[in-house]
Order: sequence, then C-alpha cells, then structure tokens
Amino acid sequence: MRPPSTAPYCGDEDLWPHEVAGDQPAHGAWECRACQRAFSLRLLGLLRPEGVVR
Ligand SMILES: [Zn+2]
Repeated sequence: MRPPSTAPYCGDEDLWPHEVAGDQPAHGAWECRACQRAFSLRLLGLLRPEGVVR
C-alpha cells in the first residue's frame, strides 16, 4: 500500500512506515513524525463489487 500523501491529522508530509519495536512494519500502518501520531489505513472493499473497474 502506498503511503498517504499527507497525514490525515495534521496534513504534514513527514510520513514513514510505522514499526513496532523490532518488528516488521504493520500492514497499512504509518506514522507522522510531525505530529507523532501513528495510524493505519485499511481497504474496506470495492464500491461496486460486481461492476467493471474502470
Ligand atoms: Zn501529523
């Protein structure tokens, strides 16, 4: 998953994969080093599961 272009909380661009001490980065987890927040992004699903993706 690509990182968001800006942090959802402060809008800064200083985003890094969020790692829990000594572990692999959690899937979809990012941290903003400007406001020191960690957050995760998750795919909820497709809007039109039966539709053609254009
Ligand atoms: Zn931030």
